[in-house]
Parts: sequence; structure tokens; C-alpha cells
Amino acid sequence: MQKKVILKKGKEESLLRFHPWIFSGAIASIEGNPDEGDVVDVYTCQGQWIACGHIQVGSIAVRVLSFVQRPIDMDFWMERLGVAFALRSTLGLTGRTDHNIYRLVHGEGDNLPGLVIDVYGRTAVMQAHSVGMHCQRMDIAKALEKVLAGSIDSIYYKSETTLPFKADIDRGNGYLKGGPNPDDIPLEYGMRMPVDWISGQKTGLFIDQRENRALLEHYSKGRNVLNMFCYTGGFSLAALRGGANLVHSVDSSARAIELTEGGVADNFPGDTRHKAFAVDAFKYLDGMESIYDLIILDPPAFAKHKDALKHALIGYRRLNQKAFEKIRPGGLLFTFSCSQVVTKDQFRMAVFTAAAQAGRKVSILYQLHQPADHPINIFHPEGEYLKGLVLSVE
Ligand code: SAH
Repeated sequence: MQKKVILKKGKEESLLRFHPWIFSGAIASIEGNPDEGDVVDVYTCQGQWIACGHIQVGSIAVRVLSFVQRPIDMDFWMERLGVAFALRSTLGLTGRTDHNIYRLVHGEGDNLPGLVIDVYGRTAVMQAHSVGMHCQRMDIAKALEKVLAGSIDSIYYKSETTLPFKADIDRGNGYLKGGPNPDDIPLEYGMRMPVDWISGQKTGLFIDQRENRALLEHYSKGRNVLNMFCYTGGFSLAALRGGANLVHSVDSSARAIELTEGGVADNFPGDTRHKAFAVDAFKYLDGMESIYDLIILDPPAFAKHKDALKHALIGYRRLNQKAFEKIRPGGLLFTFSCSQVVTKDQFRMAVFTAAAQAGRKVSILYQLHQPADHPINIFHPEGEYLKGLVLSVE
């Protein structure tokens, strides 16, 4: 029996505008007894086929894979991954000797809701955020091997923490193809990046800050740089290459500090300009001297859900206020929010309040965002999450 979802009257409206999610409240009935993660066909209450997608328990009940009637088979995966790869090639991110890190698939932004694929040198790291993508991981990996033929040797699957914890599935991480290769060095614009996809955060690196790190490099000459929430130290490496006078990196995770120090030693052996501290960011800001004239604030998402929005905005305000109080006159502040529920305007207002409370004169030099290999599906504005400001502080 066909696995079907039938919508309530009028609930096809967002699908007609190609929004890729169907909320559980829009569903009138489910037929054919689908298992969680199955591909289902979606019909209007008049019996008209409108989409197909992965079904899941939860508020987002279906993630749409196609708005035209077609099987979700190897050809489908090959086609979608092929389009994603062509875009990264257009962006100039592929086929280079000085650079081999990029996001190949960014979920809804690449019309593959629930799937992330990052490429690090000759390894692709695949991450499922939906049960459906998890169930089809082997097909996706096969298609990936073909689409990236010759340019990767290994595929690592890492979804242990990104799948709904209640789902009844075997969720082990591991290599689907190949294995570790110590000679394969991930490079970001010529920099050797420390990437630990096995035990690191996300897929191993915050690729989404690539262009912002490049911008920072341009402004770091002769400056005393503080990189707060450094993780693997990407901004610190950029500042060192840009000619910073000194660079201090701070993260509460000891493992992150270890990776940062490894990256500095690897790229700048014997360089004494860098120091790293495994401490809480707020404590560091409270205790530090006013020696910095370039500060980066790139905290983890303060709000993961709408309910946490108010607290998150207070958090951004407090954090930025501390930086405004201590940054030297003529300083530059690179400040970010990666909380999807916090809008650009809300973030800007929190930073505005922080500047006012610290009593500093501040101008906006740049408004930053996620890079082009993290595209935003125009029909799914929820995909916009990273925002940043570069501020000059008098
Ligand atoms: N800027 C980084 C990414 C930052 S991710 C890059 O370009 O790669 C956020 C980091 O904040 C994580 O590494 C996490 O360990 C760290 N973190 C979370 N809470 C913290 C806190 N209270 N103090 C310091 N670091 C913290």
C-alpha cells in the first residue's frame, strides 16, 4: 500500500510556495503505515499529489525532497549532489591545490533537508539531521562517491548527536568508506587547518566563518588580537598570518585549546606571538587588562529554540558590553551570532544597547553573514543563521 500523508484543507499553501517543511498540525491523516524515515507521498485534501519527502515523528513531520513526482532513487541523489557540486565549483572552491575545505551540502539550501556534507581534503563528512537521511545514508554515500569520483578517498558518517534522540535507529558514527589518512591535510586558503571530525564539534570545523576569517586577516596587522570562543583557532591563524602583534585565544574547552595550539605550531612553528587559555569567556573578559585593539566574539548559539530568545539577547548584550568596556580606542570588534532564532535586527539591537551602556562611540563597518557554500533557500528563510558585525570603536 502506498505510504501517504493527506493534508488538512488549505494546508498545501506553503508547499505551493516551495517551503520544504510540513508541520504535524497540517496533517489530516496518514495511510500505509509508514515507518519513521520512510519516503511518503503528500496529497491535498482534494486528492492531488503535491510533494514527497521523509516522514518523522515531531513538529516537522515531513521534510520535502521533491515537488515533482519522481522516485527517490540513486538518480535522484546523483542529480542533487551533482547540482550542489557544480555550485561549489562555480564558487571557485573545488579543484584547487591551496584550498580543499568546503560545504558540499547545506540542507534546505541545497534542496536536501536534513543533510549536511562537508569536504576536508580527501575526506567527506556526512551528517544526517533527519531519520530519513539516516536511513538512506548508504545510497547517499554511493552517489557521493560517484559525484566526487577521484577527489575523495574516505567518507565519515557523523550523526550520533544530530539525530532525534528518541528515534529507534542504530546511530553509530564511523567510516562508510576508507579511513584516516594522516598525509591528507585540510587547507583553507593555504592555511593548514586542525580538523577533528571524529571527536570535534559539528563536522570538525566551523567552515561557515571562512570568508570572515579572510576579512579579519586583512585588518590584523600590528594589532593585539583577542579571539574569544576560538574553538580550533581559525580566526587566530588568520590574525597571525595577517601580521598581528600578539594573538590570545580563549575557549572553555581544553580540547579546543589543544587543537588551536596544534594549528599554530603547524602553520607558524616557533612563533611566540600566540597564547591560548582554557577558561570561561565571561570570566576572562572580566579579569583582562585593556590591551586588545581587535576582539572577536563568536559564541555558540545562545538560543537553540524560540523560548530561549529573551535570555539569548541578554547574553549577547552582556558579552558585547564587556568587550566594549575593555577594547582600546581605535579598536575593531568582530561580533557574531549563529542563533537561527535571533534575527539580524535583534542581534544588532543587542549590540547597540551594549555600546550605549558601555558609553562608546561605535560605527558599523561591515555586516557579515554565512558564506555562499551555506546557501539559503529563498523559500526557506529559516536557513539564514549566521550574522556578524565589524565595528570600529572610538
Ligand atoms: N570561532 C570558532 C567557532 C566558535 S564555536 C571558529 O571560527 O572555529 C563556539 C566555541 O565556544 C566552542 O568551541 C565552545 O567550546 C566555546 N564555548 C562555549 N561556551 C563557552 C564559554 N562560556 N567560554 C568560553 N568558550 C565557550
